[in-house]
Amino acid sequence: MKDKHHVGRREFLRSSTLGLAGLAAAPAALRARQAAPAPAAPEADAPRVKGFRTLGRTGFNVSDIGTGSVYDQGVFKAMLDAGVNYIDTAEGYPGHHRIVGAAIKGRDRKSLFITSKMALDEGDTTREGLVKRARKCLEDMGTEYVDCMMNHMPEKPELIKHEGFHQAMADLKAEGRVRFVGVAHHGSFWYRAPETSMESMLLAAAEDGRYDVFLLAYNFLQMDGALRVFEACREKKIGTALMKTKPIVTFNAMKTRVENLEKEGKEINPLFREGVERYRKLADRMDAFVAEYRLDDADAIREASVRFVLDNPDVNTVCCSARTFDEAEKYIALSGARFNDWDRAKLAAYRESCGRFYCRHACGLCEPSCPAGVPVNTIMRYNHYFAAQGREKEAMSLYAAIPGARADACSSCSGHCERACPHGVPIQGLLLAAHDALLLA
Ligand code: SF4
Ligand code: SF4
Repeated sequence: MKDKHHVGRREFLRSSTLGLAGLAAAPAALRARQAAPAPAAPEADAPRVKGFRTLGRTGFNVSDIGTGSVYDQGVFKAMLDAGVNYIDTAEGYPGHHRIVGAAIKGRDRKSLFITSKMALDEGDTTREGLVKRARKCLEDMGTEYVDCMMNHMPEKPELIKHEGFHQAMADLKAEGRVRFVGVAHHGSFWYRAPETSMESMLLAAAEDGRYDVFLLAYNFLQMDGALRVFEACREKKIGTALMKTKPIVTFNAMKTRVENLEKEGKEINPLFREGVERYRKLADRMDAFVAEYRLDDADAIREASVRFVLDNPDVNTVCCSARTFDEAEKYIALSGARFNDWDRAKLAAYRESCGRFYCRHACGLCEPSCPAGVPVNTIMRYNHYFAAQGREKEAMSLYAAIPGARADACSSCSGHCERACPHGVPIQGLLLAAHDALLLA
């Protein structure tokens, strides 16, 4: 019997070809098969979703691998074809809703769990305004309803209880336009609201009682805050979706950037140079680590990172952003996978060798020590978008829009933040390099 969650390798590759070259360029027979509603017979070695988990009190059986940012419509469709049924999107992701709409067209809507989000610090946030905004989201996706509408990164505790939002959600639920309500949070924008850590905001949301699903940050380098949130979710049967699960610092990109600066004979600030030397020591350790574990790319660590978070039974689904068909296939292959001793050893070694390069998501502990008020954690997140996620333009515009001081202030500072970091992150140099990348690239 045909498995609806199964996509053959040939189909997957065919989707790749079509995604890259376009349907018009494909042979006629292939075009006919692409247009046909029934999928071709699955093949034995095909990637497929194997794990499903109940998304808290929604009762929905979601795939353990979900979708995150969409880079390519063909890749996104291929993930759905392979059985991914949790879709994460947001009003604030440019063009995302339309891509999702095109990808879900003709599919069994009930088999998908679509989550969108609306930020409450922009646009019309009255009850009527939010209802209108939500309807527009649905219209753009061409769907009658979303399974979950989230409060997107509330930056102040009072936004968790935003009455306009909750009233709008009640109206939309009554109309059958929204089934469940959630909240997404990955950390504070301390320069706007210092008290909004991910943990405190999500615990407040759990306490509030009106949120059914959380989207939060959790990974093997950063667990504490999320573990407390999971406890509350377990108690209140709140569903959990994850983001920021793969804290893979683009170490080589950093190294290359530093080397290029030297090659170009650019004047390097003494503080930056000192930081570079610290990177070099860490770089040597990283090289030794790569050699020991025979890792010639970041895939192995990334895959172990996903298996690590899926090993936690409190995790319902992990949002994965695939840029290529190859990446999508690798993510899907992780569905239902077990975290093993080899993974454990690799991650422990990674933590030991390279963990210091990772500026923890949702941290910001060092930020109050900065006399210039530089939003350290936010800048490093934008740098992550730039260097690890290929979202260069977006990262640069976000960086340009930061109000107040940016990382250029770091070139004439004695590095208070670095001394304040409990994780030993060589942050001053990382900030300077991030500034260099986000301004010039
Ligand atoms: S540098 Fe350290 S203290 Fe500062 S935000 Fe990053 S991890 Fe947190
Ligand atoms: S290096 Fe200085 S200016 Fe830059 S974030 Fe740290 S404390 Fe602030």
